Amino acid sequence: MTESELYHSLLLLMFILCPIVAFLLFYIKAPYGRYVQRSWGAGISVRSGWIVMEIVALLSFDAAFLTGTPDLVAWIFFILWNIHYGYRGLIYPLRLPNQTKQIPVLIVASGTLFNMINGYLNGRFLSVFGAGYSLDWLTTIPFLLGIALFFTGFLTNVQSDTILLSLRRADKSAYQIPRGFLFNYVSCPNYLGEVVEWFGWAMATWSLPGLAFALFTAANLMPRAYSHHHWYQQTFQEYPKDRKAIVPFIF
Ligand code: NDP
Repeated sequence: MTESELYHSLLLLMFILCPIVAFLLFYIKAPYGRYVQRSWGAGISVRSGWIVMEIVALLSFDAAFLTGTPDLVAWIFFILWNIHYGYRGLIYPLRLPNQTKQIPVLIVASGTLFNMINGYLNGRFLSVFGAGYSLDWLTTIPFLLGIALFFTGFLTNVQSDTILLSLRRADKSAYQIPRGFLFNYVSCPNYLGEVVEWFGWAMATWSLPGLAFALFTAANLMPRAYSHHHWYQQTFQEYPKDRKAIVPFIF
């Protein structure tokens, strides 16, 4: 099999997986965080789990990118990816409080495999399989809008994480109703930010790996947001009635 065949097969696989993952996750809650269950097998510390899963996305993207021949514009995307995964793979896990709760090895293994493939596809598109970008791309609407969405999503995600982690640090096991910022509109603004961020990436890179990743993120996080929302409503009688799951005023 040539590398081109491998790349295109993995890309196709990503698109095929999106509806399957979305369907399954509406019925089976991914067993980590509030849904963790011993029946899903051995676990490791939550902090180590996040580091392992997410550093792989950084390493596989960087390796795929740096062993190709990226143009000047592609380096902008290199920086964006490294900002996101530097945060998710190092800063976010170090902000997590030490907990007795664990994350199943199965979740870490599947997250690691996904991140390895996804990092490879996005890095390789930018340095080998894409058509390349001229400097004119920097003044196009998809690029400018995509970058604006990327940073809006990223900052929304980080700010929402900050609110949730401050609740978690205040009490290492109990859950509270998050308030303030976009929590006034939706139960999961962290997931909303993540989805917006990767659609911004897809638009700015104008790439199929970017689109596949954005769709996969939505397929993964929209059902989880729906589950969290339902869980909050069941758990707290005083939960705000007008709050939606992930899309303000709509869903
Ligand atoms: P959660 O919202 O389930 O949990 C985030 C952290 O906040 C956990 O430490 C959790 O504790 C704590 N927490 C959440 N809600 C409360 C509450 N009401 N009271 C007190 N503490 C709370 O997010 P995830 O763990 O699923 O995801 C973490 C980050 O990773 C998010 O920013 C998400 O966007 C991103 N992510 C991205 C994915 C992608 O496909 N690109 C996939 C998955 C995650 P506890 O663990 O005890 O529940």
